[in-house]
Amino acid sequence: MRNSVATNVSRDTRPPWHRPPPLIAHPAIRTRGTIGGSIAYADPAAELPACIVALDADIVARGGNGERRIPAAEFFLGLYETALAEFEMIVAIEIPKIGLTRKQIVAELARRSGDYAIAGLVLAADVDGNMLENMRAVFFGVGDAPVLARGAMDALDAGAGIDAACAALDQDLDPAADLQGGHAMKRHLARVLLRRAVNSLGSSRAAA
Ligand SMILES: Cc1cc2nc3c(=O)[nH]c(=O)nc-3n(C[C@H](O)[C@H](O)[C@H](O)COP(=O)(O)OP(=O)(O)OC[C@H]3O[C@@H](n4cnc5c(N)ncnc54)[C@H](O)[C@@H]3O)c2cc1C
Repeated sequence: MRNSVATNVSRDTRPPWHRPPPLIAHPAIRTRGTIGGSIAYADPAAELPACIVALDADIVARGGNGERRIPAAEFFLGLYETALAEFEMIVAIEIPKIGLTRKQIVAELARRSGDYAIAGLVLAADVDGNMLENMRAVFFGVGDAPVLARGAMDALDAGAGIDAACAALDQDLDPAADLQGGHAMKRHLARVLLRRAVNSLGSSRAAA
């Protein structure tokens, strides 16, 4: 994905932009696409919108009335719909610096490498040994826009365990069927992804 990431942070604290691009389509597409285009397009199955929600980023939009910052969690309003006003452009994405213990992974299930995800998850957490805290779980491909799974995040942060978090997903997600899969299948895949991502983050201090 073409980008112009201005960064003054070290490798340990830079946002994990190296993770999603290999999952996005094929090289011919991602070398022509842009970060701003992906975010403005707001495809509910795209990786980068979910990433910037997980990173708690701000989108800087500039239009005739000047510049404003829109929190990523408030930017995606629905299917291909964003908070951008007419004639406003995305001119920057501001991502808060992350601490050394903050880790994030992007996991998705697709029929073939390069396809849009049937279901995907960006999971961020502070990792202390096997302990995960301050979870931020954002699903894509299972709703009209990136979905912050608040119930699952609360269950995990409260130490209720992965089964309780998966059960809470039933309240967090209401996936519509699409060409890739039905409602029940997408719910199932979301639970699979949450289990995998939690296990993976909890067992690997190296995940970044
Ligand atoms: C076959 C195929 C497979 C794909 N697979 C995936 C995938 O698996 N995962 C994924 O995430 N994406 C996927 N994509 C989408 C692709 O990666 C691009 O993100 C998407 O096409 C947007 O491309 P673009 O940057 O050229 O934006 P454009 O197509 O140029 O723009 C998209 C829309 O956003 C508007 N726009 C562009 N930039 C800005 C800006 N800075 N401010 C405001 N509005 C703006 C444009 O006016 C337009 O309405 C796929 C695309 C194709 C064609």
